[in-house]
This record gives sequence, C-alpha cells and structure tokens, in this order.
Amino acid sequence: MAFSHFADNLEILAAQGLYRSRRVIESPQGINLKIDGQTIVNFCSNDYLGLANHPSVVNAFKTAVDYYGVGSGSAHLICGHSAAHHALEEELAAFTGRDRALLFSTGYMANIGVISALLGRGDAVFEDRLNHASLLDGGLLSGARFKRYAHADVENLNVHLKKATGNKLIVTDGVFSMDGDFAPLQALSMAAKAGDAWLMVDDAHGLGVIGTHGGGLLEYYGLNQNDVPVLMGTLGKGFGTFGAFVAGSDTLIETLIQKARTYIYTTAFPAAVAEATRASLKIVIAENWRRDKLEKLAEHFRLGAGQLGLQLINPIPNNVGWVSDSVTQQTEDDAAGLGNSNPTNITSAIQPIIIGDSQRSMEISNTLLHAGFLVSAIRPPTVPQGSARLRVTFSALHEEQHVDRLLDALDKATRL
Ligand code: PMP
Repeated sequence: MAFSHFADNLEILAAQGLYRSRRVIESPQGINLKIDGQTIVNFCSNDYLGLANHPSVVNAFKTAVDYYGVGSGSAHLICGHSAAHHALEEELAAFTGRDRALLFSTGYMANIGVISALLGRGDAVFEDRLNHASLLDGGLLSGARFKRYAHADVENLNVHLKKATGNKLIVTDGVFSMDGDFAPLQALSMAAKAGDAWLMVDDAHGLGVIGTHGGGLLEYYGLNQNDVPVLMGTLGKGFGTFGAFVAGSDTLIETLIQKARTYIYTTAFPAAVAEATRASLKIVIAENWRRDKLEKLAEHFRLGAGQLGLQLINPIPNNVGWVSDSVTQQTEDDAAGLGNSNPTNITSAIQPIIIGDSQRSMEISNTLLHAGFLVSAIRPPTVPQGSARLRVTFSALHEEQHVDRLLDALDKATRL
C-alpha cells in the first residue's frame, strides 16, 4: 500500500508521545472555551490582549463585510488591495514609527517572502536556534548560506558573521514564541552594524504586549528603523484578528512589493479583517490596562510556580543557557543589564513550564484538561529534544483567581 510507510511513522510518533491532534472548539474565543460540551479555562491562546472577540472589533468586521463583501477578489497587486488594507498599512507604519508597512496574508508567508526577497545564492542568513519555523523555512528557501547561532548568543553569532560574504541578514524572534524570553536586540543591532549585516526581528509575540505603548520589544529596547531595518509582526496574536505585516523603509517595502513571492502570488486577506484590525489597533494603543494586567498576571504566576518548584524560563537570557533553575534567578540585575531606564512589561504573556519528557508533558496536559484547564504540551520538533513543556499563556481577560486555580491544578498534576 502506498501509504503503509506513513502509517508506520504515525504509530512511531504515537509511541513517542509526539502525535499531534486537534481539539474541536465549540465556543467563541475567550478565556473560557467549550470542548466536548465542557467549559474549560483557556491558558494556551495567543489572543493576549483579549481582542479576538471584542465588541468593537466584531462590529468593525460586520460593518466592513456589509460594505466590502467577504472575499478580497484577488492578490493585492491585481484588485484585492482595498482602502481598508491601505489605511491599516498607514496606521501600522505610524504605530511602529516606520516609513511604511506592508500587509501579508499570514505571518508564515511574510517571513518566507521577506527573507527570500532580500537574499539569494552567494548571501548569508544567520538565525537564532530557537527561531520560529517560518523564519527557519524562509532562510532555507532563500538559497543563501544558512547558519544557526546559539540561542540569544551574540558572541556565537559574531563568530559566524566574521566568516560571511555577500549580503548578510540576521534574523530573530523578538519575544520567542515557545520560550517567552526576549532576544538581546540591542546587542544584535550593534553586531549587525559592526558586521555590515541587516537585522530582521519577528515580534509576533511582543507587539501590543510589551512596551509602555505596546510597540513591542523595539519600543522596550528603544530601537528604531535604523537599528532594526526589518520588523515583522502578526495580527492573529496581540491584535486578535488575522494576517501579518512587515514595516520598514520605503525602499524595503517597494522591494518586497516587487520581489516577495508570497506577497505577489496570493489572495489578499478580506478587507473586513483589515477594518477589524484597525479597530483592534485603536484598542491596543489606548488601553494600557491590558498590558499592565498581563504583566501582573504573569508575575503572579511566576511567583506561585517558583514556590511550587516548577521550572520556568528567564525573560532575559544571559546570552548563553536558556532555562533558569528557578524563578529566583530573575533578579533586578537582569533588568539593569538592559540599559532601559523604564523596565516595564519585562515579563511576556508566554510562561512555559519545562517538563522535559514528551509523554509526561502530554499526561500533565491531559490531567489539567480533566481539571478544567487547557494548557498545550509543546514537544519536539517544535522545541529542542528533552525540553518538552507546558506552554502557559495569559490573556488580559484572566483574573488572579484563574491563575491561582491553575497553580493549584498544576501542583496536583505534576505530583501524580
Ligand atoms: N512568527 C512567529 C514568531 C509565530 O509565533 C507565528 C505563529 N505561530 C508566526 C510567525 C506565523 O504567523 P501566522 O500564524 O500569522 O502565520
């Protein structure tokens, strides 16, 4: 049989605790989800600010559907680029303090399109080991020489950078998607300038969440378009909608319009999504309480998890090594090392608990589900071997009592 080989592989995956399957959600997005008729508390969404089902965002979407219809009709370069898309691009450029922004249909496509548009044979791309799959795929597909450097390790990056020829692009997550820690962007920017390389940051998990005004890791570190020429953000996480954008200089954006194949050859996302995102962007900018609340919830969780002896990750990696022994290692010294006079929002909305073994992570995740909490187990190859984890994420709509109940359930589940 043609697929017997795959059937064997599926069995092996299941035996290793690496089998992936989907849960069917029977309710709107929010901190409570209905699964199999049961209501559970959701601790695994990327809707960090709680905007996916916000009334203003929903209403903007409905109004725009009445006007624009559902489908966008074609790619942006044919007749799919509506006034709504155009206005959103201008607003995202202003929000990120950049010349221009360009919408992509998904973050995955943005990353592949950008890296392949900027690099080709004879060039070199340098990627953090823990970068998101779309960045790694983008680097591999570009045809450039592909080098991964140790996580958040600028010294290691510099070793590779010195040997490179051609155009050079350093690529990193801002807030790392599976670890929730911060890339050392100031040091990376300095290394890029010294090594005559461009720096690209994917801040899918930082934008809207980190920084006093939600400007993400670049706001937090005080970096501009000159320091980080390529900024990519997604709209399906903090913004609560769908799609992605790249922001930078006029020349960068015009180059992408001419050359990024995942921009040119795909249907624009619906105009109504753009209008919904315009509404969510207004909330992202205006409602600081959402960021403050997230920070408080994450801190409360870190404190409680530390007391239970659970293994967390330091928000600011110390250049090498990435798993903290305990929460007590997150000291004021970490913040002081940043040179940031206002270290607000130092803790991201992603707070994984390292378990190690994949099967064990699945067992704990299932036990938590039976107790009424949805926390996803993240296993290799999404994360390195031996570092399977529970990826706990918070929403501004959670309350402290939800966190306390989760801690209690975690305590019981990890003792079994
Ligand atoms: N970059 C990062 C860091 C991500 O976490 C994700 C989504 N998980 C993406 C890119 C892809 O974005 P999208 O879901 O819009 O394709």
